[in-house]
Amino acid sequence: MTTPKTLDGAGYNAAVERFRDDEYPMLQGSVYLDHAGTTPYAKSLMDRFAQDMTANLFGNPHSASASSQLSTSRIEDIRLRVLQFFNADPLEFDVVFVANATAGIKLVVEAMRALPGSFDYAYHQSSHTSLVGVREEARSSVCLDDRQVEDWAASVSLFQGNGEDVPTLFAYPAQSNMDGRRFPLAWADKLRRDSTSGKRIYTLLDAAALVSSSPLDLSCADTAPDFIVLSFYKIFGFPDLGALIVRREAEDVFASRRYFGGGTVDMVVSVKEQWHASKNHFVHERLEDGTLPMHSIIALDTALDVHRQLFGSMPNVAAHTLFLSRRLYGGLKFLRHGNGEPVCTIYSPDPNSQTGAHGTGPVVAFNIRNSLGAWVSLTEVEKLASLKQFHVRTGGVCNPGGIASVLGLEPWEMKTNFSSGFRCGTENDIMAGKPTGVIRASLGAMSTTSDVDSFVEFIREFYLDKSLALSQSEPMSQPRDLSRLHVHSISIYPIKSCAGYQVPEGVDWEVRPEGLAWDREWCLVHQGSGQALSQKRYPRMSLVRATLDFRRGELRVRYAGRVPAHLPGEIRVPLSQNPAVFQSSATRRSRSSRVCGEEIVAQTYASAEINDFFSGVLNVPCVLARFPPGGQGKSMRHNKAHLQMHQIAPSPPKLILPGSFPAPPSPPDSDTERTERRILLANESPILAISLASVEALNQEIERTGGKAVSPAVFRANIVLGSSPQSHNTQAPYAEDTWSRLRIGRHEFKMLGSCRRCHIVCINQETAEKSEEPFVTLSKTRRFEGKVFFGTHMCYGGLVGEESSWEAQFPTVRVGEGVVPGW
Ligand SMILES: *Cc1c(COP(=O)(O)O)cnc(C)c1O
Repeated sequence: MTTPKTLDGAGYNAAVERFRDDEYPMLQGSVYLDHAGTTPYAKSLMDRFAQDMTANLFGNPHSASASSQLSTSRIEDIRLRVLQFFNADPLEFDVVFVANATAGIKLVVEAMRALPGSFDYAYHQSSHTSLVGVREEARSSVCLDDRQVEDWAASVSLFQGNGEDVPTLFAYPAQSNMDGRRFPLAWADKLRRDSTSGKRIYTLLDAAALVSSSPLDLSCADTAPDFIVLSFYKIFGFPDLGALIVRREAEDVFASRRYFGGGTVDMVVSVKEQWHASKNHFVHERLEDGTLPMHSIIALDTALDVHRQLFGSMPNVAAHTLFLSRRLYGGLKFLRHGNGEPVCTIYSPDPNSQTGAHGTGPVVAFNIRNSLGAWVSLTEVEKLASLKQFHVRTGGVCNPGGIASVLGLEPWEMKTNFSSGFRCGTENDIMAGKPTGVIRASLGAMSTTSDVDSFVEFIREFYLDKSLALSQSEPMSQPRDLSRLHVHSISIYPIKSCAGYQVPEGVDWEVRPEGLAWDREWCLVHQGSGQALSQKRYPRMSLVRATLDFRRGELRVRYAGRVPAHLPGEIRVPLSQNPAVFQSSATRRSRSSRVCGEEIVAQTYASAEINDFFSGVLNVPCVLARFPPGGQGKSMRHNKAHLQMHQIAPSPPKLILPGSFPAPPSPPDSDTERTERRILLANESPILAISLASVEALNQEIERTGGKAVSPAVFRANIVLGSSPQSHNTQAPYAEDTWSRLRIGRHEFKMLGSCRRCHIVCINQETAEKSEEPFVTLSKTRRFEGKVFFGTHMCYGGLVGEESSWEAQFPTVRVGEGVVPGW
């Protein structure tokens, strides 16, 4: 049997060891090494605990019997030992035994909530989920990064103008359980009182991750946090027990706690009168409801002994794990693919260079990329690692803020991932080219050099690509050859039939199966008929301009015409799909909408401010609705574009030299493929492209007959293709009718057929004024089978080669990219 190598420091039960004395200098001669597959630590601990259990009879505390008295006195001794373990003076601190760190947090919250006026809550962004959840109980709450905490300590006041003065609870981890980053213990002292309002601030230190491999020194009660929570199983593996350590100066907080349980009261009167007297000598007496987990507490005594004997003091453990984490960090960092690209992207601070930082716990959080830059799925790594007996943890690791900040995930992205089916523990863990979690290797007292080395070797063996091939991605700085056919501009229309949003130069814009990201995700729906509004009927929609602000996570909408005085100049719609902003599903169900005659179910916004704005500027009663990707049934639409007769049988060229003239486009894709191609609220297809050469030709024709040239904007394309007019390489007008595919940068697009036109092309997109061109000229020059066509529908067709590169995980287009048509 191979023995597991634990790199999840929390999982001591699985920490079956083969450590050698020379790897653990301070242990020399102290351990009997049992190679039979049992950990010497677990074995000593269990043997010793069994001895204690069989030699003594422990009764339920609170009785006068000898067995009960034995339990009581042992528990009181152990309580003291716990304080000594953290260098805490029993006159200054008390220990409350709880099930785990989370239970300790909940005791503090229960008490704070019972204070007159409740409490305000501030928590650090690297907090564990168990700290984040506290916000639901607070009067108001805020999530802070390092700088904001320092500002708060220095001068800035939080929670001002919240009415009644209530105390604040500030919670943070001593060490992040996600990447091992440590935070200043001095914060507690700096934040006793809010610097401007003078309000009391209580500090809750989550020491659960820190104390598993490091000492925590509470010798100075004046500067210590008010409440400290931890789980003993993270230090000793056993017993399953936690503690809340209370700084006695702050114990008044618990006076307001309302509930009392068995063992916490000196007297209770309940018949005819209701009265009770709480025990009030020690906080633990008041907070330990019911029977204590006495055997677990007694086991803690043994755990403290055995741990000390095997591993020495906590500073020893800290030195050992620091040594190992440096080795692990270095080992992973220097793994390079054959082409020189790094294998691991590491999020933890470098334990080798601690300058300025508060240090790092023995944790290395990272992700793996292949040699072409694509992210490797976390679940795949975890599956293979467990086959190879490595115990690592992957995913969000219960640290939502930490994950979001290291992975650069915005709230709207996380919610988009959620609505596209992402859940904690899901297998689909790379979304829109970003990993949704991390791989975390954490080290403990029992980890060994060979564990670390074999883990690095495992990553090398399975994930290092020795080939020298470089990714073909064009360097960003490559000079653009604008005489070639290239992407002239990119536009999306966030709100269907309203003004376009031009993608700025230099920005890589995501291409999705259902079109360019954020294109036609919203629409305006008539309040009476449920019909989606269109420019055809309401030309002023062209003046409704929406801008995507990713930094603030908002869609900002302005109206370029005259805004009625009672309406705001701009409204903001969250990009997040927060269910709270939509009308309840019950109302929604009775109200389906129609887009291009097709019945759909979109989520309509409940906000009067938003709906009044659109109704006011357009002068039609309407509501904003959203039709996000990933819907099912009537929340999903399909491509309707197909090749037109004029494309399938083009007028035959006069002279055909082999290879000199484009062959007719290949027949349309199979029906099944077409039905599976999704779109959002676009009329027909995922992406609409036009060519400037064709616009040019059309304008020449319009001007020849005395008309006024039109802007390319009237065609409301997503991608405008162009080449410089001076170039001899200029595209023939209407060449796009004959293409069957198109390569933009390294991505392939399939042509789906010409775009049929209506009078909307006659609306000037800057002024909302209507004219007769270009429709009149179009119908003279571009009419086939009685219908008028201009521009071409297309959809994403995949990356050229290198399916396993990052570009394939996250296809994008950019202004200026070269375009190569194919027939
Ligand atoms: C493990 C951990 C917790 C939660 O501990 P429980 O024992 O599950 O209650 C909280 N915070 C941090 C930093 C942790 O590492």
